[in-house]
Amino acid sequence: MEILCPHCGHAELDAFELIDVNELHDDFVCVNCEQAFAACIRNCIRCDFEQALTWRVDSVPVPIAALPCGQCGHIELRPYALDDE
Ligand SMILES: [Zn+2]
Ligand SMILES: [Zn+2]
Repeated sequence: MEILCPHCGHAELDAFELIDVNELHDDFVCVNCEQAFAACIRNCIRCDFEQALTWRVDSVPVPIAALPCGQCGHIELRPYALDDE
């Protein structure tokens, strides 16, 4: 798992250990290009797929729970609960 800087593509190898899953962290600074960015480790509650997402701080999608899983497409936040899907 790598967190890639959305500005220059530099891989922040250690950052993943420092952040909580499914929480947005918008205070990263790339050690390579020194630009700020936001990151989130998404863990899908449906298929257990983990992915590291990063954005420029001015283009963070809100809310992040509305983003689909990169593997199964599950969206955690839905307007109607579909728990027994
Ligand atoms: Zn960078
Ligand atoms: Zn999934």
